[in-house]
Amino acid sequence: MNELDQIQDWLTEVVDISRVFASQGEVAAYIPELLKAPHDTLGICIISPDGQTISAGDVDFELTLQSISKVFTLILALMDLGEAHVFSKVGKEPTGDDFNSMLKLELVEPGIPFNPLINAGAIVISALIQGQSPQHKSERILNFFRLISGNATLEVDEEVFMSEAAHAHRNRSLAYFLKDNGVLTDQDDVEEILEIYFRHCSIKVTCSDMARMALVLANEGVDPASGESLIPRRYVQIAKTFMITCGMYNASGEFAIGVGLPAKSGVSGGILTLVPGKYGIGIVGPALNSKGNSVAGVHLIELLSRRQKWSMF
Ligand code: GLU
Repeated sequence: MNELDQIQDWLTEVVDISRVFASQGEVAAYIPELLKAPHDTLGICIISPDGQTISAGDVDFELTLQSISKVFTLILALMDLGEAHVFSKVGKEPTGDDFNSMLKLELVEPGIPFNPLINAGAIVISALIQGQSPQHKSERILNFFRLISGNATLEVDEEVFMSEAAHAHRNRSLAYFLKDNGVLTDQDDVEEILEIYFRHCSIKVTCSDMARMALVLANEGVDPASGESLIPRRYVQIAKTFMITCGMYNASGEFAIGVGLPAKSGVSGGILTLVPGKYGIGIVGPALNSKGNSVAGVHLIELLSRRQKWSMF
């Protein structure tokens, strides 16, 4: 019996234990469409490089990637333009502030966002994605996500996209501020860039799609099924480092101590995480704790990581 066979035996029980914690959280309300998600949903999928898959809970539940998408748009921007260009536009440091904060935007010279996983940084990354038109850039992002997930049917959830676009006063403020201080240039059309950003946040997935995306990162950028290199190893290393230092909002330090794995969460309640060299993991659990992470999902991955001794540290 290998490790995944052993975990499968008690995975449903661990999901049921963790699901109880959802009652302590709230589903995100600032994108009204997200409020439709059932509060006590919880599901997990774990995939190994040889294709073995185990899962439990609400495995068919679909949610939008939200901030989790930022990891993969960062990678695409790095593949498009290289490290020197990308890091002239965004920094490499955690903020300790909320994901949509404006507080530190003027602190790093010349006003670049602290890192690519906060909203200001991810909006700048959206502006770096190459393409002949905003539609073409959004198409390239969607196709890249389809390639990494191995799911050619991934789509943007148009309702969530429209809901966010109609209530995005904070993100608009961030983007116009970035334009004012010259991080977004005269050629950058703020509304077009925001549309690219909202669209990639609204790509709809299940926990198994996320597990497959995570598996490519766990496997150093190589698709284990085909043996094809999808992402240069250096960019996987950069992405995983950001996931450790700022992937779980202001609870990234707490998560590193409790779980010890690279991870990225989103306001829709997804967590994409991985055990390097071993597994890709996707978790769905829409009720969030006060730091914006899936409350039941964090509980679930902490139980798993502690028991299996997965922490990298
Ligand atoms: N689309 C969301 C926003 O920009 C993503 C935030 C998140 O998941 O943290 O507010």
